[in-house]
Amino acid sequence: MRPILIAGNWKMHKTQAQAREFLREFGTALQSSSQDSVPLTRTVSERQVILCVPYTDLAVVVEQTQGSGIAVGAQNLHWEDQGAFTGEISGPMLVELGVRYVIVGHSERRQYFGESDETVNQRLAAAQRHGLIPILCVGESKHQRDQGLTESWILEQLDRGLAGIDLEHLVIAYEPIWAIGTGETCAAQEANRVIGLIRQHVGQAHLSILYGGSVKASNIDEIMAQPQIDGVLVGGASLEPKEFARIANYQA
Ligand code: 13P
Repeated sequence: MRPILIAGNWKMHKTQAQAREFLREFGTALQSSSQDSVPLTRTVSERQVILCVPYTDLAVVVEQTQGSGIAVGAQNLHWEDQGAFTGEISGPMLVELGVRYVIVGHSERRQYFGESDETVNQRLAAAQRHGLIPILCVGESKHQRDQGLTESWILEQLDRGLAGIDLEHLVIAYEPIWAIGTGETCAAQEANRVIGLIRQHVGQAHLSILYGGSVKASNIDEIMAQPQIDGVLVGGASLEPKEFARIANYQA
């Protein structure tokens, strides 16, 4: 059985005060949107809910989710443990806060901040060195899809990003760039097909592979019905507590 992960990526949203407010509402919403009214801890122990929040919210969100079963993730980390890297955050800093997951190689990092497969690879190694579970993001642009380059591009991202990486302690997220924040979801069957290819290529039976890109309460059931899809990485819809709770409580 591969773990089911329902991860929210808040991106650059929410101050500490807004994060506290979210968590208050999310706890209640998780229970009321669960069909059997199971307590929070049970709901999330069957499906690991992860909140990947801005660095400034990490301490608050770790503290406020203690004992709830919700795990906390960061959105990036540097490959060195410390040094003259203004604006960066390292693995030991995240670990000390109680962070368990970290997104690496999100397409927004690649597109706006010059991340390459090489730096992604270094960041993945750093995460694992410190016992953090990295969530590696891969995905093609609209142009690449139109050119029929989806498969070759993703396999290339995987080969370069995963060189020398421990495949046991890793999560992959397939996030087609054209489906991020656009409302245009990749058809569930198509996401299933690409994720199947990724699984075959990586050759690791226990690997959880997530889908990301315009996931909402209205499409989660169909996405999670796909046999290759082990969870979701949710952007916009993870900012709203009721919506994200409905996603976490999708109907299997
Ligand atoms: P949206 O859910 O807003 O499309 O964002 C997806 C994403 O980038 C998650 O990492």
